[in-house]
Amino acid sequence: MATKGTVNVQTENIFPLIKKFLYSDHEIFLRELISNAVDATSKLKVLSGSGEVKGDLGDLKIEVILDKEKGTLTVRDKGIGMTEEEIQKYINQIAFSGAEEFVKKYEGKEGAEQIIGHFGLGFYSAFMVADKVQIRTLSYQEGSQPVQWESEGNPEFEITDIEKENRGTDIVLYIADDSKEFLEEARIEGILNKYCKFLPVEIKFGTKTTFEEDPSGEKDEDGNVKRVEVEVDNIINNTAPAWVKSPSDLKDEDYKAFYRELYPMSFEEPLFNIHLNVDYPFNLTGILYFPRLKETMEVQKNKIQLYSNQVFITDSVEEIVPEFLTLLHGVIDSPDIPLNVSRSYLQSDNNVKKISAHITKKVADKLSQMFKDDRKDFESKWDDLKVFVEYGMLTEDKFYDKAEKFALFKNAKEEYFTFDEYKEKIAPIQTDKNDKLVILYANSKDAHHQFIESAEDRGYDVLIFDSPLTPHYLQKLETKLDNVSFARVDSDTLDNLIKKEDELPSKLTDEQKEKLKPIFEEVVEKDKFQIAFENMSEKDAPIVITQPEFMRRMQEQQKLGGAGMVGAFPEMYELKVNTNHPLVGSILNKKKDNRQKMAKQLCDLAMLSQGMLQGQELTKFIKRSVDLMN
Ligand code: ADP
Repeated sequence: MATKGTVNVQTENIFPLIKKFLYSDHEIFLRELISNAVDATSKLKVLSGSGEVKGDLGDLKIEVILDKEKGTLTVRDKGIGMTEEEIQKYINQIAFSGAEEFVKKYEGKEGAEQIIGHFGLGFYSAFMVADKVQIRTLSYQEGSQPVQWESEGNPEFEITDIEKENRGTDIVLYIADDSKEFLEEARIEGILNKYCKFLPVEIKFGTKTTFEEDPSGEKDEDGNVKRVEVEVDNIINNTAPAWVKSPSDLKDEDYKAFYRELYPMSFEEPLFNIHLNVDYPFNLTGILYFPRLKETMEVQKNKIQLYSNQVFITDSVEEIVPEFLTLLHGVIDSPDIPLNVSRSYLQSDNNVKKISAHITKKVADKLSQMFKDDRKDFESKWDDLKVFVEYGMLTEDKFYDKAEKFALFKNAKEEYFTFDEYKEKIAPIQTDKNDKLVILYANSKDAHHQFIESAEDRGYDVLIFDSPLTPHYLQKLETKLDNVSFARVDSDTLDNLIKKEDELPSKLTDEQKEKLKPIFEEVVEKDKFQIAFENMSEKDAPIVITQPEFMRRMQEQQKLGGAGMVGAFPEMYELKVNTNHPLVGSILNKKKDNRQKMAKQLCDLAMLSQGMLQGQELTKFIKRSVDLMN
């Protein structure tokens, strides 16, 4: 018996439209068909659980079968199958009415984004790559007649009775000429690995050879059981990935093993992880891993994989999680995130907003918990965490509010402080005469060694900020922390950075200063250095080169791509002459041609301590030093 008919749809051009607009990525057809197969299998399990289906369900593996000769790709499941009426209802009516709606909405819209899920068109994505599709199916219902539905990518279909012994559905795609790539084994295996790696029903794609112990138990010369080659099913997926398990069933080792499963090419172990498990007001599971970030933040972005009921959707999750969270690795699985819809739609979706806020909160809570549970351990991880935390504090105010209680400052002595602890510690010594708290910092202990030492000699403390976000981060902290300013140790002399009431007198007279100024001007580049006399302590260096905090920060922000700055900031330094250093005073006692030599030598020493003396100038300096010693 054969039933012929025409699908009830006004628009004739449905299939070309599907081909063009359904998904920009044609490979997704396989994900859609396998998802349907998984659904059909899950439904069967539910019916069996409720007693509606009796007896043993048998092997439920889904198979993907390539037949190059026939030019077909088949997705086979042993799920609930369909009766002829169900095909009429689910494939013809619902899907086509969905298709009709789809066409009405998107007709004529060039480049409209993929929107399939909304319309129940998953099955029809097969026509993106096939010019003929058959559904061969036998329903689980007793006494069902197996049937075949066939269509050639026009609104006509044909349903016929067929022979089929096993329950379930074969979807047979006759791959079109322009889609021959989907007859390549490697291509299909690639797609399966991408989308199906963690589906809850086993997916078989051909067989593979492995070695097993000889079942007869025969031994080799060394007395070990011989290993023999065997053909086994090539199973694509792990049906029970860690994130669907209960956190109480998982050990640290299991989380690490799952990390390796997700990122087989990664050699670094994650720092720690967060297991997400929410079922109200939305469904969300997943595991987020904290990578070891160190000072970098570029390379590792975009590693979070998004799944919906264990079906891989995408690994670009920018629209779903706040930007700083994209530094994390791992998996998020939520059936409540609308899929296959445009990205702009995603951003405005309420579920997505809630999920995003939830993840942010979870991450902050986890860090806060770790901080409280084991402060020492948290400190030891801080170097790897700080870029992430700073990024979060910079970009998400909600995160800032939680993080300000556990974010740490590290000083040059490798001691760690929370913001509050630090303010308390330095308030008595680093408050200036205007009651402002001045926080001194350096980018590294080595680069600013001399400056750090001078500060410590005075009883001051110096923090180390070495993350790439430092200039932005400090700006943020200055707006958030009351009456606090940050100054790099070399941005001015210490007495200027932290101004106290009691200023030191100068040993040089004004007249002497007048005489010294031109001598120094002769030995440095005029447009790069501004010469100033400062009453520092005798213990400070005779000459100190500083770069004003504001100028340097602007330069740094510009390098980081700061917002809309035009033109490069000029490089400007201050050359501070210590009026109280005996060597400075002694210059004037020298013979005329030695004055300049000495001034130059002192300036070079200052340059050297800032790492600015290079090339020819450095060579000259070394020669001059040797001469001076003679
Ligand atoms: P959706 O999956 O979004 O509902 P589809 O077009 O993919 O839309 O499928 C339409 C319907 O056809 C499904 O809801 C299901 O009832 C039925 N169907 C599709 N594939 C299978 C299958 N392999 N086994 C049983 N039923 C199927």
